[in-house]
Amino acid sequence: MPARPLDPSPPVSDQVKYSTCYMCACRCGIKVHLKDGRIRYIEGNRNHPVNRGVLCAKGSAGIMQHHSPARLSKPLRRVGPRGSGEFEEIAWEEALSTAAGWLGAIRASDPRKLAFFTGRDQSQALTGWWASQFGTPNYAAHGGFCSVNMAAAGLYTIGGSFWEFGEPDWDRTRYLILFGVAEDHHSNPLKTGLGRLKARGAKVLSVNPVRTGYSAIADEWLGVTPGSDGLFVLALVHELLRAGKVDLDYLARYTNASWLVIRDPGAADDGLFARDAAGNPLCRDRGRGALRAATDPDAIPSLRGEVRLPDGRAAVPVFQLLAGRYLAADYGPDAVAERCGVPAAAIRRIAAELAEVAFNQEVVIEQPWTDWTGRRHDRMVGRPVSVHAMRGISAHSNGFHTCRAIHLLQLLLGTVDVPGGFRHRPPFPRPAPPAQKPAGRPGQVAPNACLPGPPLGFPTEPADLLVADDGTPLRIDKAFSWEAPLAAHGMMHMVVTNAWKGDPYPIDTLFLYMANMAWNSAMNTTDTMAMLCDTDPETGAYRIPHIIYSDAYFSETVAYADLVLPDTTYLERWDCISLLDRPICEADGPGDAIRQPVVPPERDVRPFQDVLLDLGARLGLPGLVDEAGRPRYPGGYPDYIVNHERQPGVGMLAGWRGAAGEAEGRGAPNPNQLNKYIENQCFWTQHLAPEMRFFKHANRDYLAYAANMGFLAQAAPIFMQLYSEPLQRFRLAAAGHGPVQPPERERERIAAYFDPLPFWYPPLEDQAQENAGFGLHAVTQRPMAMYHSWGSQNAWLRQIHAANRMFLPRALAEAEGIADDDWIWVESRHGRRIKVQVRLSDGVNGKTLWTWNAIGKRAGAWNLAPDAPEATRGFLLNHLIDELLPEQGSGYRYACADPVTGQAAWYDLKVRIRKAAPAEAGETWPRFDALAAPPGLTPRPEQSRYGAAFRPRAAAKRP
Ligand code: SF4
Repeated sequence: MPARPLDPSPPVSDQVKYSTCYMCACRCGIKVHLKDGRIRYIEGNRNHPVNRGVLCAKGSAGIMQHHSPARLSKPLRRVGPRGSGEFEEIAWEEALSTAAGWLGAIRASDPRKLAFFTGRDQSQALTGWWASQFGTPNYAAHGGFCSVNMAAAGLYTIGGSFWEFGEPDWDRTRYLILFGVAEDHHSNPLKTGLGRLKARGAKVLSVNPVRTGYSAIADEWLGVTPGSDGLFVLALVHELLRAGKVDLDYLARYTNASWLVIRDPGAADDGLFARDAAGNPLCRDRGRGALRAATDPDAIPSLRGEVRLPDGRAAVPVFQLLAGRYLAADYGPDAVAERCGVPAAAIRRIAAELAEVAFNQEVVIEQPWTDWTGRRHDRMVGRPVSVHAMRGISAHSNGFHTCRAIHLLQLLLGTVDVPGGFRHRPPFPRPAPPAQKPAGRPGQVAPNACLPGPPLGFPTEPADLLVADDGTPLRIDKAFSWEAPLAAHGMMHMVVTNAWKGDPYPIDTLFLYMANMAWNSAMNTTDTMAMLCDTDPETGAYRIPHIIYSDAYFSETVAYADLVLPDTTYLERWDCISLLDRPICEADGPGDAIRQPVVPPERDVRPFQDVLLDLGARLGLPGLVDEAGRPRYPGGYPDYIVNHERQPGVGMLAGWRGAAGEAEGRGAPNPNQLNKYIENQCFWTQHLAPEMRFFKHANRDYLAYAANMGFLAQAAPIFMQLYSEPLQRFRLAAAGHGPVQPPERERERIAAYFDPLPFWYPPLEDQAQENAGFGLHAVTQRPMAMYHSWGSQNAWLRQIHAANRMFLPRALAEAEGIADDDWIWVESRHGRRIKVQVRLSDGVNGKTLWTWNAIGKRAGAWNLAPDAPEATRGFLLNHLIDELLPEQGSGYRYACADPVTGQAAWYDLKVRIRKAAPAEAGETWPRFDALAAPPGLTPRPEQSRYGAAFRPRAAAKRP
């Protein structure tokens, strides 16, 4: 009998639409296959620059996100007490007019009474702009939770940062150090990059208390003690300086190593740069033996030696200061080894390995280029050591200086934006720091008025802070106050607590988008839920009078909203991945992308971006209405994406601008722009000419290109800042200089933490007196298969992680008589405790417990069964984390955050453990009342049978 021909790839769809994944932050290109108008499956786009066809488990499971029974289906108005989950469905017109009524009253009286905070929002170029149009400074997104230490430290030091803003030179790096990188955040691009790197035999060193995915495939894993990474890095610096293995030529050309720092203790300019009459920093010119502008192309700068300034005062180069600090014995390997949990011999060996790769294995690209001075270079020469870092170092209260220390290490080795090193992705680098200042200073907020600029930015001196004359914070989260002066991404984790207290002032409306603030996005979850429901005992009114929440799903926070505005899924709407926000650029060139609606929503939901534009027009916000008061963007978000201009010719998308799509970067709006993106599989890229691809901070052709594209205000060189003068300005204010000074309570703190050179100090939680007896660190990590909290209700992904365990170091557990599968109590100084089941591990620092984050769900939420494993065997560490530090003498409790940036210090947590009694085993604790499902949810199926719809015969055979 003839064999039946086998078709290994039968057609499964009758239509394919391109778009961009939103299952994590990587923004991979996707091809969505449809059959009969329904989503059949999702495939990676091989032509897309981010993922080149690779699709991860999360991306594939986007189908289940789209079909989730937790999707909200209609606007809701609360009808029971807040937190009860009692809602009624209302029409969009009623929902929008209600919201506009609340918001309009605020704007007409005091716009600060709107606190508008978004979560893992990929439309921050819109949401931030909308806040400034409304006139409230109280805006931020997820960054203050997550990675602002990394972003701020990078932007104040090298003019760029890790994660999506830069990347290792995957083709040439020979030694990569990963600091605190988990698998959720930088997913496909990092995986494919690591694959390329390992195939070439390059070394991967992972520094992380926990040995999961990337650490597991690393050539070497260092299970560093949480919060000590900076000390480890500075010990490497010590060793490199001691051995003379630093790139002095690179430092002199591209950094402020030679800039002279005034040494005049007590003077108002002590520690600032000595400058000439034109404001240029000075150096000592070795050639002439005289002072000269450090930016003079003909200077041959000296890196050491005290000089006399024309006024007779002393000054020394930055390099001399840093060498003096880091050569001190307290940064030596023997001094730091125990604290870091890394043997001194390993620190010495790693420093020697870095020096060997950097200085004996130079990478050369035979590509001439021209630097900013006009000098022609025959070749591009680089040192093939690169670094990638993420939340593990960022989410500590010493994270800003730790991240600065990592950049210091890179600069000493001469490995920033060179062949083989860390590479900026355009539009970075930018001036260190960028020129944008936060708006909302005294006099900048007024009824019915816009802010004069964006709510977030980069202060460089005390006058940039958002504080009243007496030092009182002007933002509800206290970002950009003396408590967190460089809070470039805001302090979202303090919003509910401060609003509840009315500190620094009461607000009227808390407007949240995609931010699960009543559960996994809150520290001190139990009290946060109570604060959201709390009332004024005298009036009976809620302390936070109105809460508006927009989300696509029935998250835990829905129950606390007064008004719920249901969003679409990412497969049902337009989006743009904009250069004004967090684009999809590569080191070899910029790029941006769109999402297009792959299928129409069949529920009564609207894209949040459309809703925001509609509300803005109803409120008459100047940027959202035309001269006649009509909506400026009546076509909603796609209209805005195409037609909104942030400055003449610069809009949300850089591709196919100009009336006929002939321009890139700058150009008039093109009515056909979205179609051009769709024709090009929903993305746009541009490739830099080969002579522009490295040394971007000093590359004449790249700088001219960046200025022309609108990435830079001018084609000027960017000098990387080993020594941060802005930090010193804050220190001088603390010492009593300048017109804007901190209140007495803050002086000591500012003086301590605003050191212009990176330094290490124990995390603030370690310093707290109440910490006695809580000797173990506890951290979380997000798994490779999850990113948003919505991942653990996804029918396919929850088959991978439906419950979480607490992983304990084996030796510690055995010493405590704890075995695999036992149940334990974990307690913190906060007075809270959780009960969890353990798994023993050899892949974790010996003083550290860890677990997967955000697997635990509140019973009933996300339309999961109340007895779902996520509720009965999942848990959050958040219950143990206090959003406030203990009071330490002044009567004031600071945020549990980095004192420089306000970054939430999730990973500072210290705990103690106790074995649970046998009768206590079986379920995690605490448990909260099951949430009632709001009206309109699709009934949850007992069994997911998605594929059956596409196999009618097979499905028919099943019982
Ligand atoms: S890495 Fe992220 S963006 Fe890419 S496919 Fe996976 S979930 Fe989607």
